[in-house]
Amino acid sequence: MSLPKELEVLQNFFVKQPNPLLGVETIQVLLFREILDFTVLRTEDTRELNTVITPLSTENDENVQRVAFLGSKQKAVESRQMERLLRTAANEADYPIEECYLKDYLCLECPRCALYGGTNASASKTTNANIKHRVAYSTAFSLAAFEQIQQTTTFNGISDLTVQTGQTLNERISVKPATIFPSIVTLHSVTWKELILMMKIILSSHKYGAESRIGGDVRNTVVGITGGWEEFITPLEFTMELNSEKEKSLSAENVTKILNKYKLLLANQKKSVILSPEQVDDMLKFISGFEIDKKFLTKAYEDVRAYRDVQENSKAKKK
Ligand SMILES: [Zn+2]
Repeated sequence: MSLPKELEVLQNFFVKQPNPLLGVETIQVLLFREILDFTVLRTEDTRELNTVITPLSTENDENVQRVAFLGSKQKAVESRQMERLLRTAANEADYPIEECYLKDYLCLECPRCALYGGTNASASKTTNANIKHRVAYSTAFSLAAFEQIQQTTTFNGISDLTVQTGQTLNERISVKPATIFPSIVTLHSVTWKELILMMKIILSSHKYGAESRIGGDVRNTVVGITGGWEEFITPLEFTMELNSEKEKSLSAENVTKILNKYKLLLANQKKSVILSPEQVDDMLKFISGFEIDKKFLTKAYEDVRAYRDVQENSKAKKK
């Protein structure tokens, strides 16, 4: 399988084979995570939303309280979505794969494990080496301030025994629909096949949050893609920039403008590319239409086997 022409614009930032020793090839996917139903973004043991104080924008350092959408919460959903996609596609294509599930039985032989990493769970494996993750998530910060996007709902606890409303009033604090979290997924030393898988996962993940059985609907919209020998921008900078533009435009053109500003900060400017809004559109169309068939799966799983062979051989050499 050769590199599709629709992905050629990023060709200098792909690796031919995934390898345990990472290079500096870095692809950043910038996206808006738009909340479409009440969503609880909190850590398990508190009832509060995760919030943090940050400057309002890059031009205005007045403090503002923002809701934080933790990287670990984004990753948990998308890693599972990857496992489901691979399992369903393999079923349909009649391609045999090992069982792999979070968090205690990772196969370490599939593209999910090769991208998200994992530690060895089973002694029967040919190699005990762990896999280092090549997908990085960071906390995303709400575009708007906490006061504007939070809603408290009070509800009565219902007794299981009597099925009657109890005396206790519980509170749920959630993020309101139409809230936007500018976010970034960063890929290190990936193949073009891995980029296709990651983009499909970002576009097809829709349920996030602590109580995702109620609410938690999210739509991810990709608004920018960069290639480089390093990262262009962080999610906090992205949110602050979008607040500093006078028109506060969320258009892909505006995102490109912001990225061009950050390009000047790169240590390797000649080794970088910012996709134009049209190039991003074309790439998304191509990837959405791309089928995860038997040929693709075979190649993607072979790549992981080759990765494991490299680990196994280097261990053998040491012995
Ligand atoms: Zn796996």
